[in-house]
Amino acid sequence: MQTQTTEYFLKSALGQEADNIIRSCVHCGFCTATCPTYQLLGDERDGPRGRIYLIKQIIEGHSVSSKTQLHLDRCLSCRACETSCPSGVQYGRLVDIGRQLIEDKTTRPSHKPNNTPYTKKLKFPNY
Ligand code: SF4
Ligand code: SF4
Repeated sequence: MQTQTTEYFLKSALGQEADNIIRSCVHCGFCTATCPTYQLLGDERDGPRGRIYLIKQIIEGHSVSSKTQLHLDRCLSCRACETSCPSGVQYGRLVDIGRQLIEDKTTRPSHKPNNTPYTKKLKFPNY
């Protein structure tokens, strides 16, 4: 995948690493088949390919919002997507970097008592 990473990010070690990983993605989408959050939510942005695109937007200097952060938060970091990637994209490392970069750019809403995704889906039985 081609990138237009800003000078600012190209001068940082994390930005460079993210740029290299993103460039190794060929956008084929094979990874979506093995991603549990994509299977559950059916939104491209909740799958690895969509999240790679969101992180690409960060290092290209586009504006990011708490919605972008939510889609990265929803990733389980299970790395199942890496097992189905023919290009060996290091997605797990990339999402770690993306989360770090977006944390610096957004403010988490403090008025919400519970900002955890999947609150409706993850209900645990009472023991
Ligand atoms: S399978 Fe790999 S190369 Fe294809 S879209 Fe997913 S991360 Fe990119
Ligand atoms: S690490 Fe897991 S949840 Fe995150 S994009 Fe990959 S397969 Fe999906």
